[in-house]
Amino acid sequence: MAKRQFKAESKRLLDLMINSIYSQKEVFLRELISNASDAIDKIYYKALTDDSITFNQSDYYIKVVPNKTERTLTVMDTGIGMTKDELVHNLGVIAKSGSLSFKNETELKDGHDIIGQFGVGFYAAFMVADEVMVISKALGSEEAYKWKSTGSDGYTVTPVEKEGVGTDIVLKIKENSEDENYDEFLEEYRLKEIIKKYSDFIRYPIKMDITTKEPKDDNDEELVDVTKEEVVNSMVPIWRKNKRELSNEDYENFYQEKRYGFDKPLTHIHLNVDGSIRYNAILFIPETIPFDYYTKEFEKGLELYSNGVLIMNKCGDLLPDHFSFVKGMVDSEDLSLNISREMLQQDRQLKLIAKNINKKIKTELQKLLKNDREKYEKFYNEFGRQLKFGAYHEFGRYKEELQDLLMFYSSKEKKLVTLDEYISNMKEDQKYIYYATGDSYDRIEKLPQTELVADEGYEILYFKEDIDEFAIKMIMSYKEKEFKSVSSGDLGIEADDNKNIEKENEEHKELFEAMKEFLTGKVKDVRVSKRLKTHPVCLSADGEVSLEMEKVLNAMPENQNIKAEKVLEINTTHNVFQSIKRAHDSKDKEKMKLYTNILYNQALLIEGLPIEDPVEFTNDICKVMA
Ligand code: ADP
Ligand code: MG
Repeated sequence: MAKRQFKAESKRLLDLMINSIYSQKEVFLRELISNASDAIDKIYYKALTDDSITFNQSDYYIKVVPNKTERTLTVMDTGIGMTKDELVHNLGVIAKSGSLSFKNETELKDGHDIIGQFGVGFYAAFMVADEVMVISKALGSEEAYKWKSTGSDGYTVTPVEKEGVGTDIVLKIKENSEDENYDEFLEEYRLKEIIKKYSDFIRYPIKMDITTKEPKDDNDEELVDVTKEEVVNSMVPIWRKNKRELSNEDYENFYQEKRYGFDKPLTHIHLNVDGSIRYNAILFIPETIPFDYYTKEFEKGLELYSNGVLIMNKCGDLLPDHFSFVKGMVDSEDLSLNISREMLQQDRQLKLIAKNINKKIKTELQKLLKNDREKYEKFYNEFGRQLKFGAYHEFGRYKEELQDLLMFYSSKEKKLVTLDEYISNMKEDQKYIYYATGDSYDRIEKLPQTELVADEGYEILYFKEDIDEFAIKMIMSYKEKEFKSVSSGDLGIEADDNKNIEKENEEHKELFEAMKEFLTGKVKDVRVSKRLKTHPVCLSADGEVSLEMEKVLNAMPENQNIKAEKVLEINTTHNVFQSIKRAHDSKDKEKMKLYTNILYNQALLIEGLPIEDPVEFTNDICKVMA
């Protein structure tokens, strides 16, 4: 009997498939089971319109049968089957398979692209088998046929005896090689595991004969092998169930079973969407941050199912970066099973789902913020940083979306407040949203720069994380109120009499010029301070880069030595100022220099910035004391 040849492109694809380094060989079973399920679906749909067919649920199942002695694995189904022609057309030409067809020949060059293009499909069987037999009897047909192939050298189709309608796929499992173990695909427990992992939610029963050791009689010590037919999959996925029938515990169990995290979920979102796009999803917000969350190893994404079949473990396209902490799964009937990573990115359905999910997550967080503040703060303490990164990311592209979810520590409330809460607590004459930066709330509270603003009774937001100020610079304003650092030039406070300050600056011009001279290259200017009350000096920054930003930027690996334009502000009402003024008036240059350096270094220390020469600084202090 003459061998039929695969179509040219199929042959090449087959070679690539078999020899590819595709790491998860176990997915072949997912593919075969999914085809079996499709075949049963076809009868199911036929029965809907064809009265001559009755769909009796119990007649339809899939069975997986390993045989160690024969070294075969059989996947049987009672689905629609294939005629002789269908065997030739469906299995002989890869280009025919699935909903995709070859786009152009050049894409054939790289094996990975190919597998990506087509999913794995029926041919995945050749990853684990030397020979594949497909014995099939089509619905309404009297004859059955056997399709047989050892891979790229072609295939044969011959008549065969088969009792019922349906398909048996028999794989002759490969011998173990030096670096591959194929025996596992003959082990009951392993097969069961693979089925549970990928096909648990197939809606037809997947049966296996499972052998266990059991006592011979009730009171007997002696154990014998007992074989029972078991349904391995659970069939009804939790996400297809009605929310009202499910308890928190059910969701927690699902979270654990799926190993979404080692913790418990803080909250879950269960979506059954039945609109222009249909999908079910269960999403979780974890209670604690994963240990690898801020490492390169962390990969965001949701599990993606196409009609109950897992097609991707981590579909990153479903989650925006700012919600990368969300775990869970999405199942949609509107997605093709054979869709590849590259294709997914362009998939319209998937984009719609992603958009929808993004909205739902935000709504859920807002709900939590409104109704369960304690829980929200718990969440925010774990993942708030990611939201702030999100607001900063891509030049503030998502800031509108995220700003209502942000919280900062308030000088007045002594706890986290939202921007909205800040705004509603603003004083009538208040122009800005004030903030101060530092390493800890304690240290920020003691910053000289906060004195005036706090004294005037304005609330100050304390920023202690490196991302805070960057995020806020991106947001720029909230409800038409601009953010203002307490260290910035114009604080917009009526109380500070600008005219007076200008006059004073003029008055001490010579003195400040002299101080500036000593601090060449270190500060841009020396000025009278509007914001100091009890402290003698502080630093502030002109321009876009604040002192805090300088710290953050310089701590980065690719330090570009970005410097803030520092201004040394002097409290002219402080008696230390009188001392330096006296030194200036008596033209004591030595003393002037000494005092200037001490004041400058003090200002650096208060700011948490390093001083250039600590030894010189302590020597200076000693000089003053002596
Ligand atoms: P896809 O499932 O995307 O169509 P596959 O390579 O998995 O691609 O399968 C190719 C075709 O072979 C299927 O479309 C189907 O027509 C046929 N087929 C495969 N397995 C079975 C089966 N168990 N019963 C009936 N038809 C099958
Ligand atoms: Mg398939």
